[in-house]
Amino acid sequence: MQVDFCPGGALAVKEGDRVVAGLNRVIEAFEHSDLPIFFTRDWHPADHISFRSRGGTWPPHCVQGTPGAEFHPDLRIPAIADIISKGSSRDAEAYSGFQGTDLEERLKRLRVDMIYLGGLTTDYCVRESALDARKAGFSVTVIEDCVRAVDAKPGDGDGALADIRRAGAKLATSSEVVRQMASTQQ
Ligand code: ZN
Repeated sequence: MQVDFCPGGALAVKEGDRVVAGLNRVIEAFEHSDLPIFFTRDWHPADHISFRSRGGTWPPHCVQGTPGAEFHPDLRIPAIADIISKGSSRDAEAYSGFQGTDLEERLKRLRVDMIYLGGLTTDYCVRESALDARKAGFSVTVIEDCVRAVDAKPGDGDGALADIRRAGAKLATSSEVVRQMASTQQ
């Protein structure tokens, strides 16, 4: 959930900022339940391999230390949350939060077996993170109202959700997730 992926950003996704409120409700529910929360972020060097200047697909975005790489200003970031930076070496792309990071190790150390996932973008980072999480053996629920797609080709987002489901992940709304959290607390 970084500034560059939201309207006005370098790689803006339509309605990207609309998912912040739903995510915040889920984050708050996780805080109340004392559950671990991870934020992944693109953290690219200025000459990252994914940038057009180097023959990649994307305009420069989420360059380390720039305002565009900040999390959305309204996003709730609890002090206990962990931040996972990815795509931070110049020659490696990383859509998935698991790629080139110690996220899997950290989750397993915390004995996490179920992951709830939201953010940007459906057809890239959310898709790849969900598929990697399934490969690593986690149960995965994608919070369907808390994701938005780049949709470079129309339908990419829907296709990604279909891939995510095919990999055995579930879809749920943020309200369903919050309700689930509240009922497991009792
Ligand atoms: Zn990137």
